[in-house]
Amino acid sequence: MRKESMPWRSLLAAAAVAGVLLMAVFRVGGCRRRGVKEENFGVMGTLASVAAGAGEQERCSEYAGMALARMREIESALSIYSPTSDLSRFNAAAGKGLMPVGNHLRMTLGLSLVYGALTQGAFDVTVGPVVHAWGFSGGRKPAAPLDEATLEARRALVGYTNIVMAEGQCGLARSGVVVDLGGVAKGYAVDVCCRELKAAGARNFMVNLGGNMRCHGRPEPDRPWRIGVRDPLRPGGTVGRLDLGEGMAVATSGNYERFVEIEGKRYAHIIDPRTGRPVSGMAGVTVVAPSAVTADALSTGLFVLGPEEGMRVLMFFTNCAALFVPDKPEMEILLTPGMEKIFQVESALAGRVKRLR
Ligand code: AMP
Ligand code: MG
Repeated sequence: MRKESMPWRSLLAAAAVAGVLLMAVFRVGGCRRRGVKEENFGVMGTLASVAAGAGEQERCSEYAGMALARMREIESALSIYSPTSDLSRFNAAAGKGLMPVGNHLRMTLGLSLVYGALTQGAFDVTVGPVVHAWGFSGGRKPAAPLDEATLEARRALVGYTNIVMAEGQCGLARSGVVVDLGGVAKGYAVDVCCRELKAAGARNFMVNLGGNMRCHGRPEPDRPWRIGVRDPLRPGGTVGRLDLGEGMAVATSGNYERFVEIEGKRYAHIIDPRTGRPVSGMAGVTVVAPSAVTADALSTGLFVLGPEEGMRVLMFFTNCAALFVPDKPEMEILLTPGMEKIFQVESALAGRVKRLR
């Protein structure tokens, strides 16, 4: 859990220090978890890890080095915090027509348009001005909850259809529109790293970037990659575990991950683009998908929509599965039919599980 009020640089420094410390440990032999070797490092404002299993343990450092280099490259293109990133230059040119942008930005913008349309605008990377006004992504925390007039003015700048892509160039239709790729960039980076590792001959590995994970092959010949799903209502606990098949990815969006406290009340970092307000009522949403970028965008979008509307959107994502934990004292774990097949609930929580249809 981390508070947005922690300055970005301090956060990055803390993550980097944690990463360096962990790497120091791993350099002296690495973490051998039942045949798996794992290396950890700090990047993109969070912790990342690369695990190598089944006969490839000795290549773990090589895999981690490749992933770190690629993640750094993506961070320097897509960071909203760096004024020189491709994204910041793109945002600064809002309303000024089309411009050529790098590959990573073009790809994530294109994907964001698709996920924006498929989630009926619940996932919308142009929430930037609202995210900022609530004190996230480098914005200053407001002294009081934002009033309706302020929200209305900010909401007027939100809408993924403001992203224009034509003739290999990209632009933002109106000045003041701000793209924030915080809900999709990590998943995208995981997919890019996995493709690169596979091209280098890796077969049995997992890449994890701040909880956005994708698995290939197996950690050991006789078992699949197994991921614990964090309990969003009880810090340190898990609600159960997932067994992931070849190439499958998982992402979780949670209200505990990042929040601001205003007048004693917590506001989570995921914004409902329809109201301009931080989403309340959801504690956590976990999505399993065939790519990490889909899992990342969809977990953010479904966090906004909640289980009922979310099920209508999931109709179009036939190979994705979701788990919802509403934010209420009586815990409920809501599973889509696909999730039921791969999720093993903690035995103490078995009575809390409900099916979604
Ligand atoms: P995640 O942790 O992947 O769910 O992403 C949350 C981050 O995405 C936030 O910190 C914001 O930077 C950004 N964000 C917030 N609300 C939305 C939204 N409705 N659609 C897309 N991105 C969002
Ligand atoms: Mg996301």
